Amino acid sequence: MPRLHPDHRCDILVIGAGIAGASAAAALSSDADVIVIEAEDQPGYHTTGRSAAFYAESYGGPLIQPLTSASKDFYLHTPAGFADVPLVHDRGCLHLYSARNKAKAKARAEALAARLPAITRLCADEVLARVPVLRPQALAGAIWDPDCRDLDVATIHQGYLRQMRRHGGRLICDARLSSLSRQPKGFYAQTGQGTIAASMVINAAGAWGDEVARMAGLSPIGLSPKRRTALVFKPEKTAVMDDWPLVIDFAETIYFKPEQGRILASPADETPMPPCDVQPDEMDIALTIDRLEKLSTLDVPKILNRWAGLRSFAPDRAPVVGPDGDCGDFIWCVGQGGYGIQTAPAMAALTKARALGRDLPDGLAGHDVRAACYDPARFRHPKL
Ligand SMILES: Cc1cc2nc3c(=O)[nH]c(=O)nc-3n(C[C@H](O)[C@H](O)[C@H](O)COP(=O)(O)OP(=O)(O)OC[C@H]3O[C@@H](n4cnc5c(N)ncnc54)[C@H](O)[C@@H]3O)c2cc1C
Repeated sequence: MPRLHPDHRCDILVIGAGIAGASAAAALSSDADVIVIEAEDQPGYHTTGRSAAFYAESYGGPLIQPLTSASKDFYLHTPAGFADVPLVHDRGCLHLYSARNKAKAKARAEALAARLPAITRLCADEVLARVPVLRPQALAGAIWDPDCRDLDVATIHQGYLRQMRRHGGRLICDARLSSLSRQPKGFYAQTGQGTIAASMVINAAGAWGDEVARMAGLSPIGLSPKRRTALVFKPEKTAVMDDWPLVIDFAETIYFKPEQGRILASPADETPMPPCDVQPDEMDIALTIDRLEKLSTLDVPKILNRWAGLRSFAPDRAPVVGPDGDCGDFIWCVGQGGYGIQTAPAMAALTKARALGRDLPDGLAGHDVRAACYDPARFRHPKL
């Protein structure tokens, strides 16, 4: 039985201090007393600290795009006091296609352009003028997204945590949740830093989201954490131009972008993994180099940095936001997949509206964000 006198009390306990937990806590802390707990000794240690740091409305599909578009205003017009430096930098994005993919690329470009008027298609010569290191042989053209940006993830993440603290919220690190019991009113949480009583819980535990639900005796969603690898290198034979856009091949098997004279690249891998402190696999590193050499003339003399992170997906690959069907005070905020940074402002606003039972704010509804598309009620699993 839990102790009756908790070490801490709050209205809302947020589990996980990645971008999801930090942004949701910042949004909720203006209306409620919030505590965020983080298992690690620093926030952002897992997926949030391991991203490729780009924002592209053309990346992620039809249920990610409204959330990304609804986040744009926040990123372009940083709220006063949030950060001292810009949150984004111009980049642009080319989705390359070959002659074989031309018809599909045309259809994808038209579907995107219906919602994002800046999207156009470029011919192979126009693509090569932008990124001369691409091999022309298999290149027929590209979908061009001029609004893609680089994100300053550390500044964004810290900005949210600062905003939460300013509203009186608290972050407790080294506080892994070990049990979560449902009480007649609210929850009782055991953590590495003592016990916490809360009226509501926000599950922002990333790859561990299903584990947290099970602790509360609730059905898991069926989240699937998938490893994605990234590496950084500096070519010796080619000068890297900082104005090159992000380059992604049509089937998303490789992407790269410049980063201060170096190249960040990923084989866009999606290897299912249990939740863990995931590390890169040598095969994926070799695959990255092989695919880069087929796509471009970039040489990879030495890898300067390599890492991997878990992108967690719900069975339908859309984020999961809203109250659990069996416990309305348990709010899901998981399944951000590979888009959790670019969608964070909208995801935080959606989480707040669902947690507090409010209508969606204009900034979401105006971008066609529909709460039902992300509602956990779409998964009905038997209790495990
Ligand atoms: C290689 C790579 C490239 C990516 N590139 C991009 C990109 O360019 N743009 C983009 O938008 N997204 C990108 N992503 C995806 C993005 O990083 C994720 O969607 C996002 O970081 C998920 O954030 P999160 O807060 O849900 O998860 P996390 O950052 O993993 O946070 C969850 C936190 O919960 C904590 N936790 C778990 N269990 C417990 C517990 N029991 N008690 C207490 N705390 C707990 C964990 O310690 C963790 O810190 C990329 C991901 C990878 C791996």
